[in-house]
Amino acid sequence: REELENLVITDHLTKLYSRNFLDDQIHLSMERDGFGTFLLIDIDNFKAINDTFGHQIGDSVIVQVANVLEANIRDNDIGARWGGEELAVYLPGVDLEIGIVIANRLVKKVQDNTTPQVTISCGVAHWSAEHKDSVQQLFHRADQALYIAKDTGKNKVVVQDLLIQ
Ligand code: C2E
Ligand code: C2E
Repeated sequence: REELENLVITDHLTKLYSRNFLDDQIHLSMERDGFGTFLLIDIDNFKAINDTFGHQIGDSVIVQVANVLEANIRDNDIGARWGGEELAVYLPGVDLEIGIVIANRLVKKVQDNTTPQVTISCGVAHWSAEHKDSVQQLFHRADQALYIAKDTGKNKVVVQDLLIQ
């Protein structure tokens, strides 16, 4: 039974949390902390890496990025596999300014600690009780920011809250 539960809360490849578990934890944090910051992360040019080096190296790159994230966030923070080459971090009770500092730290650490070297783009969105928007909207805002990060050169952090509103 314990093994079954682990399967559901953990992503098989990266050992990060699953998207379902992340979702549950964000809901809990909204109740408990009242605010938090969400980072949506995509590995840049992943298709080219797969095409150049093959799927095994592609998988290894995803695992390396996951390990870098895990090593550079606190135990309370939640690193998850979003799907494919997309990963996510939820920072419970962390305000936007510190979320941005952490996001930039992660971008730099990935660039410095992957072989073959890869970079990530990161969309940041903040949630607080005053926002009154849903988890789905939080994800959507982070996704918009991530899209802009990709579209404007990659290997960077873009903050949704500063762009729109
Ligand atoms: P800092 O790195 O400039 O971080 C400032 C504040 O941002 C921290 O204040 C904390 O509230 C928040 N913060 C930074 N990184 C994270 C993170 O990965 N997750 C979360 N949830 N919050 C984060 P705090 O705790 O008073 O720490 C003050 C300073 O002490 C930090 O400044 C840093 O220089 C050092 N520090 C604290 N914990 C660690 C650690 O585990 N590793 C390292 N290398 N330095 C740490
Ligand atoms: P942890 O709290 O789980 O943090 C894991 C890693 O996230 C840290 O590894 C660091 O790379 C990053 N990190 C977390 N918080 C901060 C921060 O405020 N600023 C920066 N720049 N990075 C942060 P690291 O540094 O090897 O630390 C390993 C563990 O040692 C930490 O695990 C924590 O339990 C403890 N630790 C290290 N420095 C401090 C500190 O200044 N204060 C406290 N209370 N604990 C610390």
